[in-house]
Amino acid sequence: MPETAFINGRFLPLADATVSVEDRGFQFGDGIYEVIRTYGGRPFKLESHLARLERSAQAIGLRQPYTRERWAQYILEGLRLAAFPEAKIYLQVTRGAAPRDHAYAQELEPTVVMTVRDLRPPNPTVQAAGVQAMTMEDIRWGRCDIKSVNLLANVLARQQATRAGVFEAILIREGRVTEGSVSNVMVVHNGILVTAPEGAHILSGVTRGIVLDLARQEGISVQERYCSRQELMEAAEVFLTGTTVEVLGVVRIDGQPIGSGAPGPVTRSLAKRFHEQTG
Ligand code: PLP
Repeated sequence: MPETAFINGRFLPLADATVSVEDRGFQFGDGIYEVIRTYGGRPFKLESHLARLERSAQAIGLRQPYTRERWAQYILEGLRLAAFPEAKIYLQVTRGAAPRDHAYAQELEPTVVMTVRDLRPPNPTVQAAGVQAMTMEDIRWGRCDIKSVNLLANVLARQQATRAGVFEAILIREGRVTEGSVSNVMVVHNGILVTAPEGAHILSGVTRGIVLDLARQEGISVQERYCSRQELMEAAEVFLTGTTVEVLGVVRIDGQPIGSGAPGPVTRSLAKRFHEQTG
């Protein structure tokens, strides 16, 4: 079975997988998700992703359908069935299917979906050259720490960026850089690595955590604080972190070059250290 889906305990080909039109994930975006990728065929930082899934579930009062051990078994089984050299695993848990009503009954059975698809690794030429980004107002809700399937503001931001021919939308809330539409944002200023603090306005990225640890191990000072658009534009280096983007230099924002206009030494060194971790 190549592209594989899993619905409530059952594996099937992705093309045959369906859920009810009354699913609250479909009707209200009432659900949570995770994206995990493999390196060497093994899920990377599975524990961290499952821990975040638990935090998201708890934050919206959603019953966790499986223990971490059970999740891990299903994920490994999905990888075995799909048999891709590298895979992208998408997990989604919604509050379940019920006649449409904003309020929900506590006893609803969650809908659990997993997909396992072929992973195309980031293009090394793009990684080496860096990408462009544009700034945009962060119009998302006040709980961006919850990995909710309700991604409309992120969708609109990324679409606007794509239409403008750039890779990522860097979001700014009340003058403060929060994160990207699909990534965390890191800024290097006077040799100090600055990134938005964990809290309600950003997703606590698994890659963000790894990269901050690597930076500290390298003796780079880290400040978890917000920076302004001006600091962003005047930075020596800007880069993105995320499961799918890894560590990706941003070389131009809103049409203006950042630093030297190429991924800088801190970005390249952290990208290298990150790849050593992934094997
Ligand atoms: N911020 C947002 C809004 C994201 O969607 C993502 C990843 O999907 C990230 C940050 C990076 O998180 P992670 O490193 O856990 O993939």
